[in-house]
Amino acid sequence: MIQVSKLRNELNELQSQAQLRSLITQTANPSMPSFCSNDYLGLKHDSRLIEAAQQAIDVWGVGTGSAHLIEGHTQIHAQLEERLAEFVGADKALLFSTGYMANLAVLTAFAKSDNVIVMDKLNHASLIDGAQLSQAKFQRYNHNDMAALQRRLSRLDLGQAMVVSDSVFSMDGDIAPITELVAEARMGQHSLFLDEAHGLGVIGPKGRGAFAESGETLDDRFILMGTMGKAFGTAGAFVAGQSDVIDYLVNKARPFIYTTAMPAAIAAATLKSLNIIESNEGDDLRARLAENITYFRSSAKDLGWNLMNSATAIQPILMGSSERAVQASQALAQKGFRVPAIRPPTVPKGLSRLRVTLMASHSKDHIDQFLTALGRCDD
Ligand SMILES: *Cc1c(COP(=O)(O)O)cnc(C)c1O
Repeated sequence: MIQVSKLRNELNELQSQAQLRSLITQTANPSMPSFCSNDYLGLKHDSRLIEAAQQAIDVWGVGTGSAHLIEGHTQIHAQLEERLAEFVGADKALLFSTGYMANLAVLTAFAKSDNVIVMDKLNHASLIDGAQLSQAKFQRYNHNDMAALQRRLSRLDLGQAMVVSDSVFSMDGDIAPITELVAEARMGQHSLFLDEAHGLGVIGPKGRGAFAESGETLDDRFILMGTMGKAFGTAGAFVAGQSDVIDYLVNKARPFIYTTAMPAAIAAATLKSLNIIESNEGDDLRARLAENITYFRSSAKDLGWNLMNSATAIQPILMGSSERAVQASQALAQKGFRVPAIRPPTVPKGLSRLRVTLMASHSKDHIDQFLTALGRCDD
């Protein structure tokens, strides 16, 4: 219920625990490079993407005017779906307006009341929400702990489960043991759903993701999800899998059916972005990103900072308490760098952090400037 005085009390409580969140409005031309963006390849301002979006707007208009199943699904959407399916090695792909909705869609469509969803404890919030919205039983195993997953699967009295994991963990930057996940799923004939939001574009051959990097191939019961709001530099998401699996989503997934289709301009820009990601230029961007990650890690460690076990563009600096994370974030903000403090409930208590992200477009100078602003770790 809405009772303003109670809401205020709760907000005050959050404030006193250094956990209050508030919006920070960005200016159009920031003077400093970003160290908190998921635009890892620096594509969101690319003139080729902008031009593709503008051309599509001229033809199709700004909005789509309806859901995909009414008249929102244009030739550009269909073409993008084909290209994305090919990109990840699946029969078919289906576009969604956001990754959050794609995750709700898959979990609610496939996990029914007599099923079990077993997922990594550090999975993205949208996967947790999807599992809760589905009527399936819901269990979580310790992060990347395959023995814990095995124990849970071996105790199932209900047969098959849907095993769900981020491929690259969004707040930690580490990668799931995909070969083991695949082996577990194959052995028990379980379904496997991998969220490649932070894998596509940046990891694997031609940026095809962490699943492709593992050398595994898709099985009838495996589903991949990817987002375009991160390395693709656009917006929206897709689910890829066996053809009947995708047709089933078209018929049953409410977050697909009951929402307006993504603008054709976004699909057009994403096609352009996919071309770049798969090209030699994409390889160069990934190589530059990799150099920046290595340089950042060694420089930050020299300054005494506690980094996590991540080889990806997500390089969290562990701060511990929420207070310390907020202080570090505010000190950086005063010097022009915005890196929000990630606190509970997004991460466990005592593991608050600055979620730093590297981009291909950073120069060594940018990284030096950022680390100078951060200063030396004082404990
Ligand atoms: C960002 C993210 C999502 C949600 O995608 P949106 O398109 O931003 O809604 C889902 N899963 C993971 C792991 C993410 O990082």
